[in-house]
Amino acid sequence: MAKKGTRLNCLVLECTICGSRNKITQRSNIQPITKLELKKHCPKCKKHTVHKESK
Ligand SMILES: [Zn+2]
Repeated sequence: MAKKGTRLNCLVLECTICGSRNKITQRSNIQPITKLELKKHCPKCKKHTVHKESK
């Protein structure tokens, strides 16, 4: 079974504050991205920041 879209299982989110890329693989835990932005905990900022999808 070949994967055509890696976005289904893997998503790279970029912190809009520090620019750190935080890859997540468990997409079921987050709400569907409609604005390509979501709040996520950034280990670098050590707080919840707005992340945008990075390709
Ligand atoms: Zn950050």
